[in-house]
Amino acid sequence: MRCPKCHNQDDKVIDSRISRDGGSIRRRRECLGCGTRFTTYEHVEQADLLVLKRNEAREPFDREKLIRSFTKACEKRPVSLETLHGAAEEIATDLAASGQREIPSRLVGLKVMDKLHSIDPVAYVRYASVYREFQDVGEFIHEIASMEHRVPASVVHPELFAPG
Ligand SMILES: [Zn+2]
Repeated sequence: MRCPKCHNQDDKVIDSRISRDGGSIRRRRECLGCGTRFTTYEHVEQADLLVLKRNEAREPFDREKLIRSFTKACEKRPVSLETLHGAAEEIATDLAASGQREIPSRLVGLKVMDKLHSIDPVAYVRYASVYREFQDVGEFIHEIASMEHRVPASVVHPELFAPG
């Protein structure tokens, strides 16, 4: 595995740990060139899972993209990378277990929101507000609304709590 710092290809594994659900293995590695330690995750390939977008386009389900969404939503929040990888892993496992080959992107978005909701309320609201802009109103908003009652109102509607 190439070192993220010096790009050396030689490393040694210093720790391997299997995730709680058995769906992935996390390895701590040390670069033999510069001594940098980094982490890799090993998963079963779920390449046959497709995401059906609103414009009817299909794209392969991309776990890395999911992790990027999580990372962006949790920017500067006290959430570990490990937690985000775990959440992405759980979503991937759920989707694979659903037996559906094509997954509506809306469903993926809702699963992300559901995870973020239990991880960090601020990240949840960030994600939900960005996501909502790209969606039609209707059923989707209804689903969000039913989730929002679980978040403190001061987080969802900070303007209502602003002084003055
Ligand atoms: Zn290195």
